[in-house]
Amino acid sequence: MPDVQSKPEDADKKGPSHEAPPITDFLDRTRFPVDPWRLVEQQFSDENLGTTETVFALGNGYLGMRGNVEEGRDSHSHGTFLNGFHETWPIQHAEEAYGFARVGQTIVNAPDAKVIRLYVDDEPLLLPVADLLDYERAIDFRTGVHHRDILWRTPAGKRVHLRTTRMVSLTQRHLAVMTFEVTMLDDSAPVAISSQILNRQDGEDEYHVPDKAMGEGVDPRKAERLIRRVLQPVLHRGDKERGRVELGYRCTDSGMTLGVAADHQFSTDNQYTCDVDVSEDLAKIVYRIDAEPGQTVRLTKLVSYHTSRGVPPRELLDRCRRTLDRAASEGVEKVEADQREWLDDFWHRSDVVVEGEDKIQQALRWNLFQVAQASARAEGSGIPAKGVTGSGYGGHYFWDAEIYVLPFLTYTRPQAARAALRFRYTLLDAARRRAAELAQKGALFPWRTINGEEASAYYAAGTAQYHINADIAYALAQYVAASGDLDFLVREGIDVLVETARMWADLGFWREDNGGDFHIHGVTGPDEYTTVVNDNLFTNVMARFNLRRAAEAVRELRELDGPQYDALVERLELQDDEIGEWERAAEGMSIPYDEHLGVHPQDLHFLEREVWDLGNTPLEQRPLLLHYHPLVIYRFQVLKQADVVLALLLQGELFTDEQKRAAFEYYDPITTGDSTLSAVAQSIMAAEVGYDDLALRYFLSSLFVDLADLHQNAADGVHVASTGGVWGALVFGFAGFRDQSGRFTFDPRLPEQWPSLTFRLMLRGNRVRVTLGQDQIELVVEEGEEVTLDVRGESVTVTTGGPTTVHLKGQGPHLDGEPAPIAGRQRADGSVIEAIVPGA
Ligand code: BGC
Repeated sequence: MPDVQSKPEDADKKGPSHEAPPITDFLDRTRFPVDPWRLVEQQFSDENLGTTETVFALGNGYLGMRGNVEEGRDSHSHGTFLNGFHETWPIQHAEEAYGFARVGQTIVNAPDAKVIRLYVDDEPLLLPVADLLDYERAIDFRTGVHHRDILWRTPAGKRVHLRTTRMVSLTQRHLAVMTFEVTMLDDSAPVAISSQILNRQDGEDEYHVPDKAMGEGVDPRKAERLIRRVLQPVLHRGDKERGRVELGYRCTDSGMTLGVAADHQFSTDNQYTCDVDVSEDLAKIVYRIDAEPGQTVRLTKLVSYHTSRGVPPRELLDRCRRTLDRAASEGVEKVEADQREWLDDFWHRSDVVVEGEDKIQQALRWNLFQVAQASARAEGSGIPAKGVTGSGYGGHYFWDAEIYVLPFLTYTRPQAARAALRFRYTLLDAARRRAAELAQKGALFPWRTINGEEASAYYAAGTAQYHINADIAYALAQYVAASGDLDFLVREGIDVLVETARMWADLGFWREDNGGDFHIHGVTGPDEYTTVVNDNLFTNVMARFNLRRAAEAVRELRELDGPQYDALVERLELQDDEIGEWERAAEGMSIPYDEHLGVHPQDLHFLEREVWDLGNTPLEQRPLLLHYHPLVIYRFQVLKQADVVLALLLQGELFTDEQKRAAFEYYDPITTGDSTLSAVAQSIMAAEVGYDDLALRYFLSSLFVDLADLHQNAADGVHVASTGGVWGALVFGFAGFRDQSGRFTFDPRLPEQWPSLTFRLMLRGNRVRVTLGQDQIELVVEEGEEVTLDVRGESVTVTTGGPTTVHLKGQGPHLDGEPAPIAGRQRADGSVIEAIVPGA
């Protein structure tokens, strides 16, 4: 967060894995005190507003509101986002080629209903310049409420007490509730409260095309901006009696529509008047109050947003009214109580407790809360890389959800994982068209998208990431295995498995000159610092899984359910020989291995490249993507994020301990971690191979990615994949949980500083509580029936009848420090690996 107290000093000492900071506290605790259930700010600062707006953002997976203060003008960006609500624009390629993505998609910053301005004696409250006698704001993870409690001394010396709350409902996805309470403490004063819905079409938040000559827009992680008017006003209305205002819009090019409405309930014993003024881009209700000391003024603002692909805004406003009427008749207390109940259930299933570590606990709950906010009510949409907290990455869905977020949902709230997978299923037709456009059979999912079409304009690090197909298949298979939801598999999931497998079978080819193996050429793996390569290990390993799993699913269906199998054959025009073809491709899949270095190369020619000397690369040159031309980066052995290591993690049972350790030791020193996705994967693998301290450091750096703005772009929104990965680092890393080949296994590696770690897993409909100590693991079924698990090779049957305790024996090696640099190792041809800093 703004005041990073101790940016790890040692981070400047470039050890090989200098990306993993030493164990330290990242936050200024006088400003952000420790509280295991809340994120609290006790001193106002307008430094790094972008970060605080992100970390105090609220969302429910559909509607997201950044943590802007209600009455403020200063902001980094006034963001309100509706998952999937986007504008389209023609992508201008400097040089055209067939099949390039044509239509850009950018999430729209929706009209802002957060605005409630306050004037006392006609002086506005503006926090950056206000004389604040007392200040606190917090998000409570148990209630999902953002509250502020402020004591302001006005320029005329009058003390004003302001209390505000904001909540985006987790049970009613179209609803947000705000309260705004003002009390003059000692003196009377004229008070004005102006509640608004503001469409900032022409303000600072307006989309504009970056002026590249001025160096704008060179950060590919930010959203594209559009210069023209995005939201065309369709209707605006106000109803003073009901305190209701409404605005309706249509997006200029995508044709998507939006309705936003707000109801106001106002109460005070003071004298007041009220005016309503609604125009195309601004709807406001202004209350003028003769405020007497001690007489509280209370405004409740209920807000509803509805969006659609093309339903007329008038109809969307009908829906808004229904949402608001229901909330009003049930009462705000009911909305709050429902929210509390939802979150009680969430924490009951999903909380992870690290005993005696309040700082970690607070940050950990913040991370888990972010996954809830990104996914809870995403229904019918994907989970964007930034959730609904910012415009970063244009509001697009990537593989992030499948590989980093879905495991958490699959093992804690399976129905949310199912919703995300069903969303992919709905994109299958678009993926089929895209495969055809790229001259392939089957289906090819877009690398990044909102509406199902490929939106990545840079194919080398975008469309070429064919692995997205296998990532989706992997998440789907993981969900089905963990939940036992065969119904989903048979009715919908199997179509995804088959069509993705078809794509692989067609994309790869047999090379008789090379041992008769099956090869996949011209693809990019997760590491975007090396692109368009032959036999990327991650891609091949995951494609092999995809092919096998599809074949297995079809064979099982044929055996178990003839009519469903016949329906599948007809639906997908499945040919007799296809299954065998997938199986042969999987068996013959080329998995490159360098005998001499004893390591799996990231791709066929990766190890032939020069090695980038990260240890001597100045921090000012990081992240590399903002300081070097892609061609420079692509020429070297240097990684943006885990690639081989991630493959060996996801398909762990197919690789030996030695292979995993060798991969970790080779790649860790050349992995920049310029993507926040990397640290969680490295933490899990470090734990598995025995680099205990490093595992903890990678974990902590993930835990504080946004809270301490460790990648200096938290302002663009929460790194949702990292927040999901934090759970993975605890459960797959320190607890060593795996769900492979039909077995649930544990091989724990609890950090020695932690007395215990407690979490729950949903395993085939049974909820198991796991409490891991230094020497033992305690397991109990809290809900459901018995479950058979395996703890370091020992089979254990766990029941509801009290905890089963297993004493831990036979842990693998403990490795000190971190892997040595790879410079100095010898290649097969006798040459010695050297490392250099390009341009130095
Ligand atoms: C990563 C991708 C990821 C994207 C969105 C990029 O920096 O390299 O793997 O999908 O961010 O989170």
